[in-house]
Amino acid sequence: MAHSAVSQVSVAVPVGSDSSIRRSVFKAHTLSFCGTLRAPVLTLDLSTKNARSKKGYTICMSVQQANAPKVAVSPLQLEDAKEPPLNTFKPKEPYTATIVSVERLVGPKAPGEVCHVVIDHGGNVPYWEGQSYGVIPPGENPKKPGNPHNVRLYSIASTRYGDSFDGRTASLCVRRALYYDPETGKEDPSKSGVCSNFLCNAKPGDKVKITGPSGKIMLLPEDNPNATHIMIATGTGIAPFRGYLRRMFMESVPTYKFGGLAWLFLGVANSDSLLYDDEFSKYLRDYPDNFRYDTALSREQNNKKGGKMYVQDKIEEYSDEIFKLLDEGAHIYFCGLKGMMPGIQDTLKRVAVERGESWEEKLSQLKKNKQWHVEVY
Ligand code: FAD
Repeated sequence: MAHSAVSQVSVAVPVGSDSSIRRSVFKAHTLSFCGTLRAPVLTLDLSTKNARSKKGYTICMSVQQANAPKVAVSPLQLEDAKEPPLNTFKPKEPYTATIVSVERLVGPKAPGEVCHVVIDHGGNVPYWEGQSYGVIPPGENPKKPGNPHNVRLYSIASTRYGDSFDGRTASLCVRRALYYDPETGKEDPSKSGVCSNFLCNAKPGDKVKITGPSGKIMLLPEDNPNATHIMIATGTGIAPFRGYLRRMFMESVPTYKFGGLAWLFLGVANSDSLLYDDEFSKYLRDYPDNFRYDTALSREQNNKKGGKMYVQDKIEEYSDEIFKLLDEGAHIYFCGLKGMMPGIQDTLKRVAVERGESWEEKLSQLKKNKQWHVEVY
């Protein structure tokens, strides 16, 4: 059954002394989200009430916040809970939510398409950062005629307050799954991924059946606000980390004041494929002592051996620091396609051997200490 979470919902009140900035910031949050800086961004006039540039483009939210204070959110009851909500809605009785917006996150030279999908759950399907929602696409399951499609899982890319900062929305970062005929190289729409295409094609107001939230592996351990978090993402694996980083650097939550180090490694194909880069670049400017951000662009950069630059090559570059941080208790998280893990594990193993350490022992220690978090699909 649904939580009666309407009582938890609260309105975000941006902090700050300048009322014109307050108005502008608030307006920006209610207007729209842009993932990367694709629209021409012109002079920013924080004294105007509306959130438009002089040419009338809607400016990306995070650009508007370039000099803005954190957004003070009214704490949800979720902040007091000892355990995360789990499977509030199950596949047999999913919650019918509403699409708020769908925006392409990547530029024209990115291979494939990734979309940012904001879903209004009305405060009825609360979650913690790092959890996933299930989505049941409309239509019939071809393998089980007369039955709905199977649930597809998507990591939630927002904090528990959502991009709306009021606890009523959740955002997903979805790669459109396309099928290309290996012989002709042509796209075959009849075989395209059902759910990802449904989500990427959805329009505001469309209904979407969701289940969950699920997952405990990627929860952000908040008992120590000064901890170090090393986040390794490939592609849409960025989703949970966007949620973490917004909680750490964008929202002002009375019960969670982050004072540690968050270090994000993001691997994508090229610079047009970077996801949420404007948000992360802003944290880098605003919190240089608490945030590090390294990208591996496989089709644009070379590793030191002259091959493609993958996320494990970046890890290798900083391996001494990473191993030291792990020895000091850092948490390390991995999220993205399954195929990312073997290359990363090989690199970590090689580095350990070079340091005269046993990777097997180190890994089992990290797992025992609950420092090792993996969600790959
Ligand atoms: P499906 O319809 O299930 O098809 C699956 C794949 O098979 C597609 O690539 C499709 O192109 C291909 N295919 C379909 N038909 C054929 C055919 N006849 N022959 C050959 N190939 C075919 N995905 C995200 O984008 N973002 C996330 O944040 C995310 N988080 C996840 C978290 C977890 C814990 C898990 C388990 C998965 C996550 N996924 C995520 C993956 C997601 O659940 C789906 O698997 C993905 O979106 C594809 O689902 P689909 O319905 O679009 O494709």
